[in-house]
Amino acid sequence: MKKEIYMDHAATTYTRQEVIEAMVPYLGDIYGNPSTLHSFGARARKAVEDARDKIAALLHAAPSEIYFTSGGTESDNWAVKGTALMNSSKGKHIITSKIEHPAILNACKELAKDGFEITYLDVDENGVVDTRQLKNALRKDTILVSVMAANNEIGTLQPIEEIGKIVKENSKAVFHVDAVQAIGAIDIALDKLLFIDLLSISSHKFYGPKGVGVLYIRKGTRIRPLHAGGEQERGRRAGTENVPGIVGMAKALELAIAEMPQERERLTALRDRLIERVTVEIENSRLNGHRTRRLPNNANFSFDGIEGESLLMKLDALGIAVSTGSACSSASLEPSHVLLAIGLAPETAHGSCRLTLGKRTTWEDIDYAADMLKKVVKELREMSPLWDTIKTTQAKNP
Ligand code: PLP
Repeated sequence: MKKEIYMDHAATTYTRQEVIEAMVPYLGDIYGNPSTLHSFGARARKAVEDARDKIAALLHAAPSEIYFTSGGTESDNWAVKGTALMNSSKGKHIITSKIEHPAILNACKELAKDGFEITYLDVDENGVVDTRQLKNALRKDTILVSVMAANNEIGTLQPIEEIGKIVKENSKAVFHVDAVQAIGAIDIALDKLLFIDLLSISSHKFYGPKGVGVLYIRKGTRIRPLHAGGEQERGRRAGTENVPGIVGMAKALELAIAEMPQERERLTALRDRLIERVTVEIENSRLNGHRTRRLPNNANFSFDGIEGESLLMKLDALGIAVSTGSACSSASLEPSHVLLAIGLAPETAHGSCRLTLGKRTTWEDIDYAADMLKKVVKELREMSPLWDTIKTTQAKNP
């Protein structure tokens, strides 16, 4: 039987059975609109408010600070554009990093067209934001700083506490954290992380359903709604709530946080074996991202002399699903903006692939993936004129 090994959990995860079971009543019998006043509506309203209470407790926040959205992209857009539009009379300067998700970078690009000035912070060779540059970049008119907790391509964790402190000690800017990849991997207690004003999460990254997420808005944070419409979410986010999705997300978050300590340890051991085997056994390979300060399930490699897309297709034929760059940009031929930002040459960035492990990943899967990577990289290099040139150059300049 053909193997099927899914190593693309950063793109999305399956919806776990317990979550599906929690959702089923709300896909069937309990179908009222939470905004209606009769008992059908009241049952749906109760499910939404119970989910809000649960998510708030898990994040150590108040229920009134949890706003349901359609996922990470909407939460990020709302954070960036909603803050910009609300505060433009105070200033039009925004700071973010060069390695953010396109949901942030493209929202900033749109704002730049409307006269906002965006500073894109550099990262070092491991993908860690330059905090000295951040301190120097903060100004009186800086209204927003947005930095992700964990990078979706190379897995690097940012020093969010240090960044948050710098922002709060040196400016009046709102601090937004894209925590879409970080949930279930790092502790997020918003009663301790007081410098975080806004935080994005997305259910389908932690075994919940797709198309639902949260924007956490700390009490007192000024942000404009993005959608015109009804009075849902206390008048801040119009549109009928995705009741089954919200119920499923709350269940998924509960399980992810309860299982985090063991799962983090298990995934870290699997990840480290994969990194060890690949970097030792495949010549001219490198790990992208920080060696230790990285997501427990993320390994991102570059292999000289090959194309990431060919590698992906060959691995897929062998039953292993991986990714090149981020899922969103894998259809484009542009090298990943993250890999370029950490200093890779475009041709090296093109020869990269990301393997992200999950709850069903086993030791056997790791060894199979390492064996197949070795085989496929060798085959591709044998066909590559580029590889001959690289080897000849290396022989001349050892
Ligand atoms: N932010 C990060 C860091 C992500 O990895 C993603 C998805 O890959 C998003 C935002 C967008 O989330 P969604 O797919 O829920 O729109």
